[in-house]
Amino acid sequence: MSPAVLATAALAAALITLMMPTALAAPVTAPETSEWTYDARSGPAYWADLSADFKACHDGQYQSPVNLHSGIESSTTGRKFPEWSMPPFVAGSMSVKNLGHTVQYSPEGNTTTGDAPLRGLRFGDDELAFKQFHFHTPSEHRINGQYYAGELHMVHKSADGKRAAVVGFLIDATEVDNPLFSQLLDYIPKNKLEPAAPLRDGTLDTTPFVAATKGDFFTYSGSLTTPPCTEGVTWLVPASPLQMSVKQLKKLEEVIGFTARPTQYNKEVADAKSESAAAEH
Ligand SMILES: [Zn+2]
Repeated sequence: MSPAVLATAALAAALITLMMPTALAAPVTAPETSEWTYDARSGPAYWADLSADFKACHDGQYQSPVNLHSGIESSTTGRKFPEWSMPPFVAGSMSVKNLGHTVQYSPEGNTTTGDAPLRGLRFGDDELAFKQFHFHTPSEHRINGQYYAGELHMVHKSADGKRAAVVGFLIDATEVDNPLFSQLLDYIPKNKLEPAAPLRDGTLDTTPFVAATKGDFFTYSGSLTTPPCTEGVTWLVPASPLQMSVKQLKKLEEVIGFTARPTQYNKEVADAKSESAAAEH
C-alpha cells in the first residue's frame, strides 16, 4: 500500500470514530456498570474504567492471575500447605447460582454433620471460613507457561472480611467423565434470572480436592481475578490438576463461556523470577 493510500485509510478510520454515536465513543462510566464482562468493551482491559471501585484492576501491583514458575514460594521451597478443613458436603447443603460470568456453588445452612470444625483455612490464629467455589474456563493461572482447560476457585474469608485466600485448582481435560463433577454440572441454572438451585443429589465428596492439596503447590500474594480486583489475597495453587472430561468441560463452557482474566503484573512473582534467574547465572 502506498503512503497516500495508508493516509486515506487512517483518515477514514478517524472519520468513522468521529461519526460513532457518543454513547459508544464515550468511556463507559455509568454507575450500574459494575456490569463487567469478559467481552471486548467491558472486558478485563476496561474493568478499571467501569467503576471507581475497580481501580486496582489497572493500578494494582500485586494482581492475579500469574504464571506460576519455580522461583516463587511453593512446597519445594519448604512452604507447608496451611491447615485446610473441607469435609464432604451433606445432602441439601449447597446451592448453585448462575452469576452470568460464572456459576457459583455456595454452602447453605449447616453444611456438615454434627459438631464439625470450621470449614476453611487456618493461618496461625487466623481462621478463614469457606464461602463459595466457582469455575473459570480456560484456566487463569499457568504453570511454567502452560494453560489448563479450566480452574476452580475455592474462596475463603476472615470474619472481619479483611483477609481472603483462594485455593485454586487447575483442571485438565481428559477422556473419561469425572464423577466428582457430574453432580455439579448436572443442573446449572441457564441464566442469572433463575434462582439459586439446590444440588439435586446427595453429598459432595471433597476427598479429591483435599488430596490435591497434599502434593506440590505454589503460593503467592495476589488479588481477586474479577472486579474489584482487591489485593492481599493469599493464593494456594496445587501443582497437579484435577481432571474433567471434554464432554463435562463443554457443558460448563456452554454456560460460562470464556471467563479467564489474562496474566497480570505481580511484583512478588516478578521479583521471584528475576531472583531465580540471577541465581542460575
Ligand atoms: Zn475465580
